[in-house]
Amino acid sequence: VGLDNPFVGAKWYVDPVWSAKAAAEPNGTLISGESTFVWMDRIGAIEGPADGFGLRDHLDEALAQGADLFQFVVYDLPNRDCAALASNGELRISENGFARYQNEYIKGITDVISDPAYASIRIVAVVEVDSLPNLVTNMDVADCQEANGSGGYRDGIRYALDALAEIPNTYAYLDIAHSGWLGWSDNFAEGVELIGDVVESTAAGWDSIAGFASNSANYTPVQEPYLSNPNLQVGGNPVRSADFYEWNSYFDELTFVQDWRAAMIARGAPTTIGMLIDTGRNGWGGANRPTGQSSSSDLNTFVDESRVDRRSHRGNWCNQHGGVGYRPQANPAPGVDAFVWVKPQGESDGISEADFVPDPNDPAKQHDPMCDPDANNTSNSAVGTNAMDNAPHAGRWFPEAFELLLNNAYPPL
Ligand code: BGC
Repeated sequence: VGLDNPFVGAKWYVDPVWSAKAAAEPNGTLISGESTFVWMDRIGAIEGPADGFGLRDHLDEALAQGADLFQFVVYDLPNRDCAALASNGELRISENGFARYQNEYIKGITDVISDPAYASIRIVAVVEVDSLPNLVTNMDVADCQEANGSGGYRDGIRYALDALAEIPNTYAYLDIAHSGWLGWSDNFAEGVELIGDVVESTAAGWDSIAGFASNSANYTPVQEPYLSNPNLQVGGNPVRSADFYEWNSYFDELTFVQDWRAAMIARGAPTTIGMLIDTGRNGWGGANRPTGQSSSSDLNTFVDESRVDRRSHRGNWCNQHGGVGYRPQANPAPGVDAFVWVKPQGESDGISEADFVPDPNDPAKQHDPMCDPDANNTSNSAVGTNAMDNAPHAGRWFPEAFELLLNNAYPPL
């Protein structure tokens, strides 16, 4: 962790694999030159396919591009995605998963990125999307309970952060889900404590991370421009009490990450920590984007007409009708190291059909009902999932989603 903010003044790597797929879609060249994260989503991804790119190929290509910023996702914990099914992973705690995570997965990564040939590249890692947040809110799920114990998420992340911290040009940002998950004050407080404890349990302590990453692969907007005050009274009640917000005071990512950073500093983090927001799919533009605040005196109507987030429920996470958001950029706001594109546009969140053929690379991936366009939200049966139909397995190319994200971009492309 040599630099306060590794994004400043850097030349960002463009993943040629994603870029080629994007450029082949209609209007895809509008974004195919941007920098997206490379996901190490299984042990085999480190070596890569025989005819494709592994981690070393990406870093060699970064050198060839003259890039000095490379971004990847660490994503292979045992019992991965413990409260859902779409991104279940190859490792299980009950099947020696923690040992394999250490010896095959993390070691495989650090063997490559510690090569002195790449010492000039700032290597940014977003660490284990949605994992510790599941330990805050999903302790009623057996797989998450197991992940809360020995050889689970805490041990895995501690090991990963310790290993990454030994490589001076590496910058780890630990995932904190998003405001629609950890935004309620009780979840926020428990999240700060649990996640802060894990960071402090590493050998390097706070020096093991550059900061935290929010909204990875999610759709929560950076700002709700027409709902900036959660306590605004409409029809005698605060807007945060509307059905859509369920009393959560954080409607947007920016205030959430700034308050998260302040809370971590208050418990001992250095002021050098910075936040990342995944803005790949949280733009919410297009014809249905509101252009001003509603004048309704009915609370729910007011909120539904004012919010740019068009989901029927903030918990909807699978193949939503979002849009490309802010382009990747350094220092977009106080406390925010960068807006980044963690989830590459056009890659599915999960398969829509319950009757599916397993993915040959990731046989553990399954159908989650939240990816079924005809199902209801699994935690609120009053609303649908908003998921797109005909979606392939998580991570596989989904051209209809790519096209929709381009059409709904905000700021417009
Ligand atoms: C999938 C990964 C994929 C990533 C990026 C995740 O939901 O599980 O396999 O690499 O999304 O698309």
